[in-house]
Amino acid sequence: MLLSPNITPVGFAAIGRMLGVAPPTSGTPASVAMNPASLDTLADQQARFRVEGSGPVGGRSLVPISTGARELLEESPAARDVLSGVLALIEHAAGGAEASAGVVLNGIALASSVEGHAANTYAAHLADDPELGRSPSGAQLAQLASDSSGDAPATKALVTSGWLNVGVDVAGALLAARGAPVGGATSVTHAALAVRVLRHEAQHLVDTSSPGLTPAGTHGFHEALAEAHSTHLEQLQDARGMLALDAAVPDEALRSSLTTRPYPQHERTLAQALKAAGIEPTSADAAALLARPASQIGVALAEGIARSEGTTVEQARADLSRAFGTDGRAH
Ligand SMILES: [Zn+2]
Repeated sequence: MLLSPNITPVGFAAIGRMLGVAPPTSGTPASVAMNPASLDTLADQQARFRVEGSGPVGGRSLVPISTGARELLEESPAARDVLSGVLALIEHAAGGAEASAGVVLNGIALASSVEGHAANTYAAHLADDPELGRSPSGAQLAQLASDSSGDAPATKALVTSGWLNVGVDVAGALLAARGAPVGGATSVTHAALAVRVLRHEAQHLVDTSSPGLTPAGTHGFHEALAEAHSTHLEQLQDARGMLALDAAVPDEALRSSLTTRPYPQHERTLAQALKAAGIEPTSADAAALLARPASQIGVALAEGIARSEGTTVEQARADLSRAFGTDGRAH
């Protein structure tokens, strides 16, 4: 689940790019009520690390930029290994060191509370949202605070403004599994879900190319692709290895994590699109196609559908956009 797609008049278009995996909750979670005045303090209490350097993601530096980050490292040096594992996972998701050189990753934030997760979203926008600017007005800050807090209780992790913001349960499970102190969940079940969630989010980070659909369709398309890369056991086993959690998370727990499906309709739409393009969704051809960037997949699907259905590529693109953009709720 994502923070609500509040495309506000003040230009927070990036808020709509927040991406995340929701837990299997029912109903609408309560919002976290916060205001700009409290968010800076709260964000400083979270473990926020800026990622510096260029080139392969695995070789970049993690610089603690908050009191929470410095305290975490003091209490548990193992936390740095956890974060290095996340960098390794992102590099792996990109297709290796060389392929990861172009990935934009501004930072990683580990939340120690639901409110902290919302504060991290707020802070990521203030620091790195190109559409927000350096001197936001009071009204903009208030709107951003509201947008940041909306679905925070339900969001396991999200990517926004080039930041990987990890919610309290995933962060807690991840740290606990490596022997670091935690504020959130500690079970094997949560550790397995952390593997799944981080593999999903890594896909958002490594492939931001446009499939050539409308904005509403693009979002659903990217969620379907992130799921396509994080819903097979082999993918999760690879991710588990990158995170150095082989000993902590058994295969059975990984299998169980696959019952968490926050985007079933987008997954179905992708399968239908593949079929319409003449590609069996479970085939090797489909796997090969889905391993390519979103832009190429979008083109291939539109062309395939146009051929199969005797229509134009433009019409196929419009149909795809509508199909991916009409999920029951806008995430
Ligand atoms: Zn997502």
